Amino acid sequence: MKKIFLWLPFLLLPFTSHVRAQIVEKEHPVMILGSGVAALTSAVYLARAGITPIVITGPSIGGTITQSHNVQNWPGEMSISGIELGERVKNQAEQNGAILIPEEVVSVDLSKRPFIITTKPLYGSIDQFKQYKTHSVIIALGSKPNLLNIPGERGDDGYWSRGVYSCAVCDGSLYKGKAVAVVGGGDAALIEAQYLSNIAEKVDVFVRRDVFRTVEKERMKEILSRPNIEVHFKTVIKEIRGDRQKATALIVHDFAKSEEQEVPVDALFLAIGSRPNTELFQGQLELDSQGYITLRKHQETSVEGVYAMGDVCDPEFKQAICAAGDAAKAALQAQQYLAATHPPTKLETIAVAEKERQGTQVIEIASKEQFYRELSESTGPVFVDFYATYCGPCRTFSPIYDAWAKEHGGKIKFLKVNADSMRELFERYQIRGIPTLLIFDENGNIIRRSIGFKEISDVENQLEKMGEKDITAKFFAS
Ligand SMILES: Cc1cc2nc3c(=O)[nH]c(=O)nc-3n(C[C@H](O)[C@H](O)[C@H](O)COP(=O)(O)OP(=O)(O)OC[C@H]3O[C@@H](n4cnc5c(N)ncnc54)[C@H](O)[C@@H]3O)c2cc1C
Repeated sequence: MKKIFLWLPFLLLPFTSHVRAQIVEKEHPVMILGSGVAALTSAVYLARAGITPIVITGPSIGGTITQSHNVQNWPGEMSISGIELGERVKNQAEQNGAILIPEEVVSVDLSKRPFIITTKPLYGSIDQFKQYKTHSVIIALGSKPNLLNIPGERGDDGYWSRGVYSCAVCDGSLYKGKAVAVVGGGDAALIEAQYLSNIAEKVDVFVRRDVFRTVEKERMKEILSRPNIEVHFKTVIKEIRGDRQKATALIVHDFAKSEEQEVPVDALFLAIGSRPNTELFQGQLELDSQGYITLRKHQETSVEGVYAMGDVCDPEFKQAICAAGDAAKAALQAQQYLAATHPPTKLETIAVAEKERQGTQVIEIASKEQFYRELSESTGPVFVDFYATYCGPCRTFSPIYDAWAKEHGGKIKFLKVNADSMRELFERYQIRGIPTLLIFDENGNIIRRSIGFKEISDVENQLEKMGEKDITAKFFAS
């Protein structure tokens, strides 16, 4: 192996341009877009069938259900928090062998085969695109919240994230003991109001119609009996006002009384439905007039080998269990498609290539459970690069680290941990500078800590000297 560190100044330019260039990966049998309940359920089915699914997680692992503090209609659970439910399905998918990649899909090309999926990292260098080739695609990108489109909501003069939100579980805790409002007339609005009523002093709920559209009547009764919740039927919000720093009041119009009034609030939570995340598929897949992906037989889309499930193709039910049911069908249909179109030998070749590549690739850690599992399953030394996307030297080290993995992967396991998403691991291992390279022995003990380029370059020297037989943890001990 070349002395990469000695050549660092000369290599900086090529590395930078290399990082920005699109990397075309080898072919995958199936890629799942999204990591909500639907995506993760499909991942469980496929992984258990021996087909390694690549899951592009997007920004929210666990998906929309993580916004629910108390899910009461998931089979087998009287009551479970959405975060825990999402975490459990994610763990199940990973433990069965699914590979979760923390990236966001920016474009898809379904016009040629294999299909091409282009992604960017979730954090930092947004120009660092990657391209993947896949023989089938399962789409589970869910939906995004609808907006009121009224003055004071978004834009330069708006109060988005400064008093206007779309997720009470995410932002409600900022309003302990304060006055908040919810707008919407469905189950999501009731759930948001219920959650906020445990935190805020007062919760005003504004409903455009004169009834709630709910599938959970029992829950509705319980929520509406709470003393700090007041419902305003036949009322619309016309404007959000504030003091330039934060929202302070709503201008509402009551149709029944034909009057307009100002209601002081510290925050407004939108729960007025959602629209599907399907912009990426316009012109490539058949969509209905509202933008939902239209389905043929079960989860089949208008393109053979491409399946959709969950909220991205369900304008009507939008429930986690429906998404999970669709997901099982999509996974089974994808399996049937692959079996029919790709003879077993070809699939086996893809699977073997997958395994080989996994061995020689740096693994990006997506959860602390995955980290501890990778450590405990390793039979040799484990290198861990603690980095941050905003750190220039980390970005420079990244392709060098990839090169190490290509050359020594299989004998050494290479992991990387991002400061933006894995704060807990940074604290657990007391990482005080980046990049930091920790080397663990096969028993999970830290045997070396190298901080910054200079110290890491000593490891490079040791890798240089390392013969075939020297791959023991002791070799790297400082
Ligand atoms: C407040 C609230 C409470 C709810 N409570 C319940 C309940 O109690 N019971 C129930 O059954 N249902 C409930 N629901 C509905 C339920 O959450 C959804 O129906 C379900 O989560 C849909 O799952 P999904 O996998 O289709 O989509 P989602 O869960 O929305 O997942 C979408 C996924 O796509 C990913 N993504 C988005 N864009 C990209 C991109 N460009 N690239 C890659 N990935 C991307 C996201 O990261 C996410 O992982 C609730 C919804 C809300 C809003």
